[in-house]
Amino acid sequence: MIKNIKNYSLDELKEELQKIGEKSYRATQIYEWIYSKRVKSFDEMTNLSIDLREKLKNNFSIGNFGIVKKLESVDGTKKYLFDINDGKGNLIESVLMQYHHGFTVCVSSQIGCRMGCKFCASTGIKFERGLFPGEIVEQILAIEEDAKIKISNIVFMGIGEPLDNYDNVMKAIEIINNPKALNIGARHISLSTSGIVPRIYDLADKNMQCTLSISLHSTNNEKRSEMMPINKVYPIEELMKACKYYIEKTNKRISFEYALAKSENDNLKDADELVKLLKGMLAHVNLIPINEIKDGKYTKSTNENIIRFRDYLNEKGIVATIRRELGSDIEAACGQLRKQNLES
Ligand code: SAH
Repeated sequence: MIKNIKNYSLDELKEELQKIGEKSYRATQIYEWIYSKRVKSFDEMTNLSIDLREKLKNNFSIGNFGIVKKLESVDGTKKYLFDINDGKGNLIESVLMQYHHGFTVCVSSQIGCRMGCKFCASTGIKFERGLFPGEIVEQILAIEEDAKIKISNIVFMGIGEPLDNYDNVMKAIEIINNPKALNIGARHISLSTSGIVPRIYDLADKNMQCTLSISLHSTNNEKRSEMMPINKVYPIEELMKACKYYIEKTNKRISFEYALAKSENDNLKDADELVKLLKGMLAHVNLIPINEIKDGKYTKSTNENIIRFRDYLNEKGIVATIRRELGSDIEAACGQLRKQNLES
């Protein structure tokens, strides 16, 4: 089977080359062609012999994406729809955002999502599979090429649940981190999860240095299970236990995401419960004005309520900020990604 050469860490690629009878240092040369010189074909790797280039072509693909569509928001945010060229016609979305500290790409980790969160537009997309490492990495390469910029930050907040595709996401992070590949440090990568508890323990034991974000959205099990079915499998108590273990092991702060929906989870009683839940923890709260989706039952909190909620948390000693909404006019904001919109 032809394998995508971008799926491999440098060490793995060395092994792959040895398997086909080549010297391992060739892997470093290939990495340079792909990640420094950004070539898009084996033929362009001109310091490799023609024979070797042929051999590479027979054993590997190079995994380039095609841009099917690109939308640009009034705030400069760009949403990309990619043809991932997997022979099955699968398309994925990624978003490029500009902040004062640089450019951030919001990557997808799966084709579709199994989590079924009620407020999220990715729910309802047919789940196909997790993305391979090379397909995660290629989202960044393709955007850097198209926008002619260098990305400084990555957030795993596009379509999919990264911890439901754990091994591929970890491998992608290794490639993203590698100074010979994308050279983006772990501290510039955020991974957001709906709360797959066993994998949070794995991240802790691995001492992962990326920022971990937990999609909390509610402090009581009944409401959270209604919003996020995964809560029935891993309820809040178990989730918080895993988070505490993670903080203890890594000494890193966790970011809790809380999407505010009018009259659902946005009154001061909810804020007070959140204070009680997070008191004494190395935590930060990221408040997200909920983005309304088609046929969704949740509506956005008023600005007044959002500010009141934030101020209450801050007064009680919990650091909370309101996430700036980017790209909502092109359906590129949190929870709006849904490839069908673009296919129709
Ligand atoms: N599966 C991961 C990453 C996906 S989305 C997770 O659940 O964390 C990234 C963030 O956007 C999550 O916090 C998610 O809960 C949030 N989100 C999803 N739909 C939203 C919506 N309609 N409005 C605001 N935030 C939303």
